[in-house]
Amino acid sequence: MTFPPLREDLVGLEPYGAPQVDVPVQLNVNENPYPPSEAVVADVAASVAAATATLNRYPDREFVELRRALADYLNSSGGSGITPDQVWAANGSNEVMLQLLQAFGGPGRCALSFAPTYAMYPEYARDSVTAWVQGRRAEDFSVDLDAARELVLEHRPSVVLLPSPNNPTGTALPPEAVTVLCEAAGDGLVVVDEAYGEFRRAGTPSALELLPRHRNLVVTRTMSKAFALAGARVGYFAAAREICDAVRVVRLPYHLSAVTQATALAALRHADELLGRVDDLRRERDLLVDWLRARGHQVAESDANFVYFGRFDDRHAVWQGLLDAGVLIREVGPDGWLRVSVGTPQEMAAFKEALVDVTTRGASEEQG
Ligand SMILES: *Cc1c(COP(=O)(O)O)cnc(C)c1O
Repeated sequence: MTFPPLREDLVGLEPYGAPQVDVPVQLNVNENPYPPSEAVVADVAASVAAATATLNRYPDREFVELRRALADYLNSSGGSGITPDQVWAANGSNEVMLQLLQAFGGPGRCALSFAPTYAMYPEYARDSVTAWVQGRRAEDFSVDLDAARELVLEHRPSVVLLPSPNNPTGTALPPEAVTVLCEAAGDGLVVVDEAYGEFRRAGTPSALELLPRHRNLVVTRTMSKAFALAGARVGYFAAAREICDAVRVVRLPYHLSAVTQATALAALRHADELLGRVDDLRRERDLLVDWLRARGHQVAESDANFVYFGRFDDRHAVWQGLLDAGVLIREVGPDGWLRVSVGTPQEMAAFKEALVDVTTRGASEEQG
């Protein structure tokens, strides 16, 4: 027995997380590069100050006002008729999804996704003692619907986790994929993780539109990406009221602090402004995709605020070469591929210059 007497399946594991390195150009965790304006900072600060005056008391455990504001926002962002009792929030959508696994997974049950995908999903399964089943995406990172349906029918997962757009590839799910999986899953939940939903291209619908049709559908969102509020830790989902009520059973008491609630409410009052850069970032993304393709790279279709590109014989050498030039990107997913977040035009220029340098220096030869 080792000390401390950790769960056997956790022995020797390292905590997950992207390297946090202090370099001039940080394009590795898909943050919004634009900080809040002075007006937003002032309103958030005033709201937090007001909340501070009552910090001797526990916050509203049901965060009614925030649920109302989130429902209003979702109804303006692809949803319709979503009511506050169909909305749930926690400290980041990671916590929201862990709570879903705590309520709907557990011993004797399994959760399922399709790789390459978000590296945290198997961790929610592990932490909630839920078995983990992983299918594969096609060569172009889309989900093969026939194979996906088969896998769901074979394993009968309690929870299917599907990011749309997918991380790290940027691939969005067509609405028929959501419908096929909701039908195949039967009583199992289908969680469509729309962490990057606001960045989707014109013509790519949100799964929120399908909520009225599938009682087992859950759509998660976050304020960490398009909303430019990663530091506040606010994520949420919309689903049938019964699903929210089930999650209320497993949440810790008062899990959303008064400071968090005040911050999120103030930010939602400024939604238009905070989301004001989304169109700029989408344009910048499309330019980056074109530029990478013109240079002969393979690039996955992206509906997100990041781009997945390759393929490199030695992707680590490319990653390191960029880092040496002060540009931090992410080495993640299948070998040969790298992910870069979309930043400001200045950051994109620095990335392009460094990439040209690194690849023409021959640090790594492209494979055809
Ligand atoms: C960034 C991200 C999230 C959001 O995480 P938060 O906990 O809300 O900051 C969720 N899912 C995916 C796939 C992500 O990339």
